Amino acid sequence: MKTILKALSAAAILLAASVHAAPTLVRDVRLFDGERTHERRSVLFDGGVIVDADYRGAPPAGARVVDGAGRTLLPGLIDAHVHAFRYMELPLLFGVTTQVDMFNNVQMMREVREAMAAGKNGGRADIFSAGTLATAKSGHGTQFGMPIPTLATPGEAHAFVDARISEGSHYIKLAWEEGQGGQHLNSLDGATVKALIEAAHRRGKLAVVHVSTLANARASLEAGADGLVHLFTGTGIAARDADALAKLAKTRRAFVIPTYVVLESMAGVKTDGLLADPALAALLDREQQQPLRASYGQSPMPQMLVTPKAVIAAMHRAKVPLLAGTDAGNAGTQYGISMHHELAALVAAGLTPGEALAAATSMPARAFSLGKRGQVAKGYKADLLLVEGNPLADITHTRRIVEVWKDGDSVDPLRTRQRERVARESSAPGMAPVTLPADGRISLFTREKLGSPFGIGWSPTHDGMMGGASSVSLDVLPGEAGAPAALAVTARVVKADFPYPWAGVAFGPGARPMQPANVSAAKTIAFRVRGDGKRYAVSMMSRGVTIPATVPFTADAAWKEVTVPLSSFGGIDPALLTMIGFNAGPEPGDYRFEIADVRLLDK
Ligand SMILES: [Zn+2]
Repeated sequence: MKTILKALSAAAILLAASVHAAPTLVRDVRLFDGERTHERRSVLFDGGVIVDADYRGAPPAGARVVDGAGRTLLPGLIDAHVHAFRYMELPLLFGVTTQVDMFNNVQMMREVREAMAAGKNGGRADIFSAGTLATAKSGHGTQFGMPIPTLATPGEAHAFVDARISEGSHYIKLAWEEGQGGQHLNSLDGATVKALIEAAHRRGKLAVVHVSTLANARASLEAGADGLVHLFTGTGIAARDADALAKLAKTRRAFVIPTYVVLESMAGVKTDGLLADPALAALLDREQQQPLRASYGQSPMPQMLVTPKAVIAAMHRAKVPLLAGTDAGNAGTQYGISMHHELAALVAAGLTPGEALAAATSMPARAFSLGKRGQVAKGYKADLLLVEGNPLADITHTRRIVEVWKDGDSVDPLRTRQRERVARESSAPGMAPVTLPADGRISLFTREKLGSPFGIGWSPTHDGMMGGASSVSLDVLPGEAGAPAALAVTARVVKADFPYPWAGVAFGPGARPMQPANVSAAKTIAFRVRGDGKRYAVSMMSRGVTIPATVPFTADAAWKEVTVPLSSFGGIDPALLTMIGFNAGPEPGDYRFEIADVRLLDK
């Protein structure tokens, strides 16, 4: 037995050694070292670290030699703002070797932290995390279904920060968000924000703040915030206000992570062109592409980007450190790939390509104290990105990925495996499209059954799955004068610890709850409705989408027909549809409406 164990551990050692099998020399390459460009260098790395960033002479015995002619070598990219709760394998495929996480579940944060500490985080990007964000009860960040601690007063700040540090938070992230677009959200107040920042500083931690208004951006900086993790949308800002904000950030030595990608999503604007690039699209399956097709804004409002563009330009003029971050995890962005658009957006806003690349490498490493990464220098981590061409002349060349290394290991096998998997998926027959009934009707209500021609049919839905207390009851009413039966939905929506409590009825088109069905034959949803005069929403989800897309309707006293094109449900893929809901909420109260004749129509 002992011998076997010995043999096994010897094999394990051999296996471990083979991971960093040979030194690698990238020869005669243009090098962007995180700060400066060197037109011709050779870089040697071994055992996961850079041995020599200016190697001269013959390649060491046994070294793998990679030709650098016509290519540029960069530090692996650092995404300074993500929510890394899924698709952990994606960032590396696109050259992002480190993610700076701005709110995640504590379990996930700990697991990655331990793997990194043990030197066992190969095959995926490293993650530094804020852990749980600081927010108010039912405030921004509480809407994701995981219960989190919140706080309300400055007196709680110290204990809150200490609790986060003991959980392993690398820095403290605060949400100062009073709601947007007429939606009011419960929020931390200015005094609590200030107390949290002071408490973080007393413990030697950075405090970074999510804001969505100029006033709160200013107040955060005045309270000592180390960074703003977003800018904010708007149709314009006075030059003196933008300059004053930039000057304030500069004098307070704060950094700014614009997250232009997600601001575009809020503005309903899609300019990234990422999926039009076959080399990039080939690395994302259908579900992984979905967030890039989605956006928060339901219709394009490019004018909402005037303010962030002006503020980025003002920050750049004032020499405020700007860091590249995508806010991936949100609609409109995807891990790894969206960094290439964020870089281009920073250049479009006035940064030189070299400044944009520093914003994605050396600067975030320094701003967040991420250790020896973000630069190509002796002793630094061998997290590297090799691209064809010259991104210092054309920033879109970062997309022309030749090879990625994480801790000195080539990511090539992972890129190949993913490419093959995606190719297999797209050549597979896929889910057969559902044949819609001739009249399109998916509501077959009888006293016995809330039936449907396909799928699991209809069932009550409410926020209980998130710990909410809303409730609903459903009653089938006989149709008048031969009309099909209607469904009466009586709902009570109760204020909750998250911003969007709901109750209503949902149709599941798949064979099991939240299983997708291909209803791509449908172009429009139509239904008849009447009720108490209140506002409701039709919502839809498809696989890979975490927050439903909704379209509001009013249930008036008289029956009326409502028709909504499926294209109005931003980011929803009808070929992977998982749910259609008719819901009351989020305002607390009693609701009653009746629906009938729900149809999916092919035009
Ligand atoms: Zn975020």
